[in-house]
Amino acid sequence: MAVLEKLSSAKAIALEDKHGAHNYHPLPVVLSKGDGVYVWDVEGKKYYDFLSAYSAVNQGHCHPKIVGAMIEQAQTLTLTSRAFYNDKLGVYEQFVTHYFGFDKVLPMNTGAEAVETALKICRKWAYEKKGIHENEAQIIVCENNFHGRTTTIISFSNDENARKNFGPYTQGFIKIAYDDIEALEKAITSSPNIAGFLVEPIQGEAGVYVPSDDYLSKAKALCEKHNVLFIADEVQTGIARTGSLLAVCGNCNCEKACEKQETYVQPDILILGKALSGGAYPVSAVLANDAIMNVIKPGQHGSTFGGNPVAAAVAMAALEVVSEENLAQNARKLGEIFRSELEKYIQTSSIATLVRGKGLLNAIVINDSEDSDTAWNICLKLAENGLLAKPTHGNIIRFAPPLVMNETQLQECISIITGTLKEFE
Ligand SMILES: *Cc1c(COP(=O)(O)O)cnc(C)c1O
Repeated sequence: MAVLEKLSSAKAIALEDKHGAHNYHPLPVVLSKGDGVYVWDVEGKKYYDFLSAYSAVNQGHCHPKIVGAMIEQAQTLTLTSRAFYNDKLGVYEQFVTHYFGFDKVLPMNTGAEAVETALKICRKWAYEKKGIHENEAQIIVCENNFHGRTTTIISFSNDENARKNFGPYTQGFIKIAYDDIEALEKAITSSPNIAGFLVEPIQGEAGVYVPSDDYLSKAKALCEKHNVLFIADEVQTGIARTGSLLAVCGNCNCEKACEKQETYVQPDILILGKALSGGAYPVSAVLANDAIMNVIKPGQHGSTFGGNPVAAAVAMAALEVVSEENLAQNARKLGEIFRSELEKYIQTSSIATLVRGKGLLNAIVINDSEDSDTAWNICLKLAENGLLAKPTHGNIIRFAPPLVMNETQLQECISIITGTLKEFE
């Protein structure tokens, strides 16, 4: 049968091109296997994965513990819907709320769904608890944000590609500059109708912009002062990626999100996705304390697959791997090596101008215009040299390997990256 034939890369790409919507522009690499920090293409060429499915595969490809939990649960019970209880959901809910330090969780599947959920909870809280008049709530967001692709979310994006010809847009959002505490104060005090502030602790898609050290704590303090919910979108930054369990944990690398450490900025609403499943399965979550989460009553929000037993089993295994394998500590240690080695190279480089990031969420800026194809061409060359990465915007390349990498592997990757860049000097 044709579908069982081993496909060449060219054939696989041609099939997607002909039969799939053209909503992505992938690098021309066709992957058929993954293990830890490596992936292989259909011709058997091995690569280091330096994208990790946009940080979903923090625990490494096909982690045996996560895949094992998934197989076992898939053979037992996969989906009940929330019309009935199942024996995994409550166990997971207890586990995940303790892990991140919240009273309650609302389980969903994808990151964008979780962001939508957070926005709905925030609005409902604003009307029922804060006393804002119906339909007047405003949520503050940041320029160059990335929170997903739904109609509401793209309404407050400023990526023209994501927005154009998808209107009319959802109202109720105020956009301010990122990492600008004065802009936030001005917006928060501009109206009594401000319900929430939605923010990425590090802007990933925008090109890995790390805000000033005190930005998040000051933003949280402003939110608290004005009874506005601080909503952290940690879909990409969360789950050990930036060298701590959450980016809002600041500079603590213990394996729990906790109020005990002074760098921790407790969000009122925390949004997780991606690595919550280690890339095995779509699992997302919204966490909040009772005073907020209890505004949601039966029938007011939900999802057929959200909180299904496979998702629950997979997410618990994925979070256990993060603690058992000290992934936050490893990300922190390797991230420091990565940036310092790249900085050394950049001092003598005319093609790369800057490396920035935190933990193993990093990016380099290429010395060319934003609309040039230099970063793309460098990524093609990196692939040829055995390392997969993708430009975020024009002249920025993000480097986000699985967090299970070891130092020897990282050093090899740094040689591949600097060696490839040298070809473009
Ligand atoms: C990827 C991402 C999302 C959207 O997640 P999907 O699972 O693709 O819907 C939302 N927020 C951030 C910060 C992300 O990186």
